Amino acid sequence: MSARQHIAAAEAHSAHNYHPLPVVVAHADGAWMTDIEGRRYLDMLAGYSALNFGHRHPRLIAAAKAQLDQVTLTSRAFHHDRFADFCTALAELCGMEMVLPMNTGAEAVETAVKTARKWGYRVKGVPDGQAKIVVAAGNFHGRTTTIISFSTDPEARLDFGPFTPGFEIVPYGDLAALDAAVDDRTVAVLIEPIQGEAGVLVPPPGYLAGLRRITAERGVLFIADEVQSGLGRTGRTFACEHEGVVPDMYVLGKALGGGVVPVSAVVSSAEVLGVYRPGEHGSTFGGNPLACAVALEVIAMLRSGEVQQRAAELGDHLHSELGLLAGAGGPVTAVRGRGLWAGVDIAPGHGTGREVSEQLMDRRVLVKDTHGATIRLAPPLVISKEDLDWGLEQLRAVLSG
Ligand code: PMP
Repeated sequence: MSARQHIAAAEAHSAHNYHPLPVVVAHADGAWMTDIEGRRYLDMLAGYSALNFGHRHPRLIAAAKAQLDQVTLTSRAFHHDRFADFCTALAELCGMEMVLPMNTGAEAVETAVKTARKWGYRVKGVPDGQAKIVVAAGNFHGRTTTIISFSTDPEARLDFGPFTPGFEIVPYGDLAALDAAVDDRTVAVLIEPIQGEAGVLVPPPGYLAGLRRITAERGVLFIADEVQSGLGRTGRTFACEHEGVVPDMYVLGKALGGGVVPVSAVVSSAEVLGVYRPGEHGSTFGGNPLACAVALEVIAMLRSGEVQQRAAELGDHLHSELGLLAGAGGPVTAVRGRGLWAGVDIAPGHGTGREVSEQLMDRRVLVKDTHGATIRLAPPLVISKEDLDWGLEQLRAVLSG
């Protein structure tokens, strides 16, 4: 089948809830993908940060293969021999005590919301049914009905109501608004330490530290959704570390499964995750042996700190190169981000994000447009400096063309 035939068949038989670039990938290795007609592309999106270690990292593939020969799924009706190791290692990586494993980012966020509410009723003494969670405008936490209930993206909500109550939205980066929104019913503040889908928005300095102070003083949980920002992307294990902040709960996903298996988790204290009793929450696949085996290898790689170091060093290079495009009269109006993660706003007259993405595809570089005139760069953290420079060269050529 040609690429054209694949795309036509996909359009006929799958819902049109995405608008993919017209490339059909058949193979991938490290930072490179190959399409079914043999063309090679540099991956500068990395599965929205699920592929922080690149495609098919040998250690992750070896861990998966070894586990395939042992046991792949038990459900949580039984213990299995990778589960405790995974929970212990992940809790340790986070400096926390307990883990509740799920599969996707959205499920983990749902779990965080449910956990915060239950904690609010059982521990904090919020009157039943009254719990409120404060969130930020521009957020992206996933696609479930409850999560889109507090989205500020009209497309994400269109014709999906009725919505789940119990959320208050405040402007991102505004500590005074956050402080005013936290009241006696509030059980948690849920934010992304850097807003990914919004265009890699870094909050003003002091925001995370202020949020930490306010939530601690008022006795509400600080939930950091690090599904996209966490696990090395920003040059640290967690984006919260850039302000020396430790939240009460991490929500993790994407890179936790190394791009091999879906793995997500909520990580917190024994007081918070201790609220659950058997039967109150769960997932057939959450914490399965294959997922745990791969995630254990991901955690081991993160423990060495190498990938974070690379993301920090190459990230400085990426941002200084992009900064050169953002000078007066240049093709770029703003560059945001940390580490190997950048939101790039394209100046009027240099194309929409989609157009730039398509032109980059023609030059064998794959990125994703975010809004009208923004593209996002998030290459695998294992990318070589030469490949990164080659990708940037293609971007410069497209933007100056
Ligand atoms: N939280 C954040 C911060 C995300 O960026 C995403 C995905 N882009 C999610 C949650 C949802 O993850 P998933 O697509 O695995 O449900």
